[in-house]
Amino acid sequence: MRHPAIAGAFRIALMALLLAVLVTTALIATTREAAAQDLGAIARITGPATLRAEGEALVLDLPLTQPVPVRARLLDAPLRAVLDFRQIDWTGLDAAALTLPAPLAAVRLGQAGGGWSRMVLELAQPMDFATVAMLTDPASGAARLRLRLVPVSAEAFAARVQAGADGAPATLSPLTQGPALGMRPTVVVLDPGHGGVDPGAEREGLREADLMLTFARELAETLRRSGAFEVVLTRGDDSFVSLEARILVARQAGADVFLSLHADALPDGGASGATLYTLADEASEAAAAALAERHDRADLLGGGVDLSGADDVVAGVLMDIARTETRPATDRLADALLGAITAEGLATHRRPRQEAAFSVLKTPDIPSILLEVGFMSSPRDLANLRDPAWRAGMAQALMNGLLAWVDDEAQRRAMRRH
Ligand SMILES: [Zn+2]
Repeated sequence: MRHPAIAGAFRIALMALLLAVLVTTALIATTREAAAQDLGAIARITGPATLRAEGEALVLDLPLTQPVPVRARLLDAPLRAVLDFRQIDWTGLDAAALTLPAPLAAVRLGQAGGGWSRMVLELAQPMDFATVAMLTDPASGAARLRLRLVPVSAEAFAARVQAGADGAPATLSPLTQGPALGMRPTVVVLDPGHGGVDPGAEREGLREADLMLTFARELAETLRRSGAFEVVLTRGDDSFVSLEARILVARQAGADVFLSLHADALPDGGASGATLYTLADEASEAAAAALAERHDRADLLGGGVDLSGADDVVAGVLMDIARTETRPATDRLADALLGAITAEGLATHRRPRQEAAFSVLKTPDIPSILLEVGFMSSPRDLANLRDPAWRAGMAQALMNGLLAWVDDEAQRRAMRRH
C-alpha cells in the first residue's frame, strides 16, 4: 500500500517529469551537436537503471550518454538523499517502474531549475553516501553514475544534514565517508595533457596530445587489468578540455589519484627523462616555472567547454585543511612512482622530483601529480615515447608505484587508528 503523502508527492513528481520532458526536449535539440566530452550538454539515459540492496547498502547504477557534474546532499523530514545533476534528460527512466529495495521509500525525478536535474531518494532509515562516482568509458565517452548509500546512525545523519545546510564541503566530497584506500579499487584519473586546439609539443610530425592519449589508454588498460583500479580519463579523444573541466572530472570520479601525463619540449633541449611535478607556490627551477606558465596560457586559448556548474564544486574544496592532509600523501605518491620508474630501469631526469605551480594540480584534497613521461625535445625520449614496448614498461612501473603507495597509505591509516 502506498502512503497518501507519498502518492501526493508522486503526483507532483509526475508533473515535474512532464515539465522536464518538455524542457529537456527543447534543450536537447540545441545541444545535440555538442561533443561527447562537453560537460555543459544534457546527458540522456542509455539503458536500464539498476537499484538494488547489497547487504545493508543501497546501490544505484545509472548509464548515461556522457558524464555530468553531480552534487549530493542529505535532507531531513522526511529522510532524503538528493542528487542534483547538470543536467539529465530523465525520459529514459521510469521512476514508478523501479522496484524499491527495503531501505528506500520512494524515488522522484525532476528538474530543479537553473540548469539542474534532481533525483530524490526518500529513505526508510538514515543513510549516507559511500560512493557518488561518475565513471567515464574513455572509448565511447559514455558515463555511468555509481551511487552507494550505507546505513548510519540518526546522529550521524543529522550531522551531515547540518553540514549540508551550512554549505560545508562535506556535501561535495562524500567519498571521504566511504571505505578507506586499499579496501576498494583505487580510483585513478588519468589526464592526457593538451588536446583539440592545443596540440602541446610537436616534433617530427608527432603531437604531445596524441602521444599522451595513446599512453593514457595503454596505462588505463594495464591498471584495469590488475583489478585493483578504477580508471577515468579526462578526455577520450582529441578534444580540448579546459583545466577546470579536467579537475572536475577528477572530482566527479571521486579520484584517489590525479595523474596528468605530458611529454613537453623544452627550448634549451637539455631536459630528458621522466620528471614528476608536485604543486608548489614557487617553482623549483626556472624551467619548471616556464612550463607551468605555458600550460596555463594554453588553456586560455581554447574554449568550448561550458562549465557553469563548476564554481561551487571546485570552490568548495579549496581548503587549507585538505592541503595539509594531502601534501604528505602526494609527496609519498611521487616518491613511490619515481622509485618504481627507477626500479624498472627507465630514464629519469637529473632532478626527477620537482615542484611547480601547475593549475591542473591545484586540487588540494586529491593527491595530484604531473608526470613528464619524457621530453619530446630529447631524441632519446622521443624514440622511447613512440616505442610500444617502452611504453608498456612505463605503464607497468606506474602501476607498481601506485600499488606500493596504496599499500603504504592503507598501513599508515591503520596505524593512526590504533
Ligand atoms: Zn604538456
